[in-house]
Amino acid sequence: MHPHVGESDWEEGLEQAASFLKAASRVAVLTGAGISAESGLATFRGQGGLWEGQRVEDVATPRAFARDPRQVWRFYNLRRANLAEVQPNAGHRALVDLEQRFGDDFALITQNVDGLHQAAGSVNVLEIHGSIRRVRCTECPYIVERGVEALPDLPHCEKCNSLLRPDVVWFEEMLPATIWSRAELAVVRCQCLLVVGTSAMVYPAAGLIATAHEHKARVIEVNLQATPATQGVDVSLLGPSGTVLPELVRRVATAPPL
Ligand SMILES: [Zn+2]
Repeated sequence: MHPHVGESDWEEGLEQAASFLKAASRVAVLTGAGISAESGLATFRGQGGLWEGQRVEDVATPRAFARDPRQVWRFYNLRRANLAEVQPNAGHRALVDLEQRFGDDFALITQNVDGLHQAAGSVNVLEIHGSIRRVRCTECPYIVERGVEALPDLPHCEKCNSLLRPDVVWFEEMLPATIWSRAELAVVRCQCLLVVGTSAMVYPAAGLIATAHEHKARVIEVNLQATPATQGVDVSLLGPSGTVLPELVRRVATAPPL
């Protein structure tokens, strides 16, 4: 039995969500910080999080980087070091199974910058906020995967010696256009959008959910607690994604044809 709802509601919600996924020929998933928090990863973005007494919004901006790049790199190097200690969880792994079921008709859109979906084995991952495992040059097109290895306090480009920056989308920056277009297209084309671990209230999550509704896709939410989106979704499954997703995906695999 699930803590938030009666057993029959819970059962019914899971079955309904499984039937939506089973009936879809294309599926899109949108994940946020919640799924990684269950791996023990500290999450900051969009939660009013503080780092060393500073608002994260004041560390993760182009202005902060221009003012004090060493400080910004210290923040990201700490986050990279934290990442070396965490593993993908059962929720990440369930989404790998779901991708294997739908193959090319599956897109995983993530707001997370930790690379845990790929670490779990997901292949088609659209990182709309970038990745802290990659760095790029502030002056030339150089961009490279650096994993979670320790970087210098102030890393410089191997090609042109300019300052490197994390390949993430900071506050006040645009989303990467190509990745974002692919994410929108995936949602336009899907019959079922699964939203996991994000409050779904703010852009871009809210925009993708609205797009799914416009195109008559079913929307399933998996969150620890009800969100402002809960009223609008077709099914809301409240609980840890590491518990809910494996159970949901198991039912998709075994659900009888509609
Ligand atoms: Zn360069």
